Amino acid sequence: MTIGSMFGDVFKSLFKKPVTEKYPFAESVTPEHFRGKLEWDPEKCTGCQLCVKDCPSNAIEIITIDKVNKKFVMRYHMDRCTFCSQCVLNCRFNCINMSEDEWELASAKKEPFEVFYGREEDVTELMARAARPETGEGCAEEKAQ
Ligand code: SF4
Ligand code: SF4
Repeated sequence: MTIGSMFGDVFKSLFKKPVTEKYPFAESVTPEHFRGKLEWDPEKCTGCQLCVKDCPSNAIEIITIDKVNKKFVMRYHMDRCTFCSQCVLNCRFNCINMSEDEWELASAKKEPFEVFYGREEDVTELMARAARPETGEGCAEEKAQ
């Protein structure tokens, strides 16, 4: 590239709009079918564990609260998830989805990456069980979502 052509490019760019986006000050639109944070519907879940078996990242646990009454809690390890969507495709009951809106997931702390999904009373029951020394799973401090 000669100096002359370089000045030409610089001059032309003075009259062009910048191509960069002003993120995070201006929101960009996420594309359709974007793979963001998992969403889970406990009302449809049968506890079949297919999503757990098929997840290549070991990012999901389905914890049984009451098998007879189909009460389950999903423990989602977001920091392990590769957002491959395998669990969404394989769940035969359409319980799992990937959010198109929730994708700003960065955090300097570990806690936000462990998420509990489920009915409020089921998550509360799980936390209570975890708090008991004989059944503790070490998750008493986690928050339900
Ligand atoms: S595959 Fe679907 S129905 Fe089966 S445990 Fe996972 S979320 Fe529940
Ligand atoms: S999107 Fe992929 S990595 Fe994430 S929980 Fe589902 S199967 Fe596992």
